[in-house]
Amino acid sequence: MSILVLPWPWRKQAGQPVVPCFLPFAGCRTRCLYCAQHLQTGRPSRADPSPALDACEAMLRLRLERGLPAAEAAFYGGTFTGQSEASLALCLARAERWMAEGLAACWRCSTRPDCLSRDMLRRLETAGCRTVELGVQTFGAEALERSLRGYGPDCARLAMGLVRQSGLALGCQLLPGLPGSTPEGFFADVREACALGADFLRFYPCLVIRGTGLARLWEEGRYRPWDLATAVEALARGLALAGPVPVARIGVAYEEELGRSVLAGPWDRDLGTRAWSRLALRTLERAVGEGGQGRRLSGVWLPRRIQGFLWGQDGENRQALAAIGIAPSAVAWIQEDEIRLAFA
Ligand code: SF4
Repeated sequence: MSILVLPWPWRKQAGQPVVPCFLPFAGCRTRCLYCAQHLQTGRPSRADPSPALDACEAMLRLRLERGLPAAEAAFYGGTFTGQSEASLALCLARAERWMAEGLAACWRCSTRPDCLSRDMLRRLETAGCRTVELGVQTFGAEALERSLRGYGPDCARLAMGLVRQSGLALGCQLLPGLPGSTPEGFFADVREACALGADFLRFYPCLVIRGTGLARLWEEGRYRPWDLATAVEALARGLALAGPVPVARIGVAYEEELGRSVLAGPWDRDLGTRAWSRLALRTLERAVGEGGQGRRLSGVWLPRRIQGFLWGQDGENRQALAAIGIAPSAVAWIQEDEIRLAFA
């Protein structure tokens, strides 16, 4: 008998609770081809951030009143650092007050790569920011251009470097499936984001949303989004390539209103689980194939952390796992992040 031991390096990001402050399109000087932030966040776009700040503060205060630990506030939905000086100053002052009053432990923001500078990063850090999430989307020049992002790949690389050097944590958001992109391009994006020092990634596969420029292209037959099968396979490979760099989110948050506006693309409530399940399946298929070399699988020990998704959404992995000799009754769950396979 021989035993094959493989690491399971992947993990979902665990962190302190986040209370979002959605500022749809705040600071966005152009409208990217695919973007419908007001639908994705379920909030209207406003010039004045005060209502969104008030709503976030109310949620933070509620947590405190319930005896919950202070959360991290998160400015999402637009280009945080591209806002007018008045709006930015309002947000920073409010965030500092939340921290001074013990309502928030720290805060984070998302922004575009072409709206950052060393001075801005210093200013964010001084006001209590601990993480900057960059909407990189892709490092592919053609996809950036066709999506009307308004900057090239080097700008994204530079911005990643600036955040890295600032000492703030760096999140990188990727958007696979844009016009002009391919699964191979997405895999290259994941490799590059990790090589540039991302602390965590987010994958948001491209959707066709009513009212966007992308919807027009799709209606005219000039753009075809990835279907669910392509997206799941590519996302699983993306997870594999990310290795120990956590992927904090897969797919936009499932909102009823957004669902009514999605015209095409891999829109699925369980997209993340499907991708994790596929990663587990492909990893085990490869391990059994390479380790077994025709021998019979006689023992299976798997990390407990994959128990929740190994069998797949609605059991969709069961048949494929049975085909390589892995049935539920054959698996022993272990605490270690290792796959152990015995072959007779
Ligand atoms: S993708 Fe980001 S930068 Fe582009 S319009 Fe939407 S929120 Fe603004």
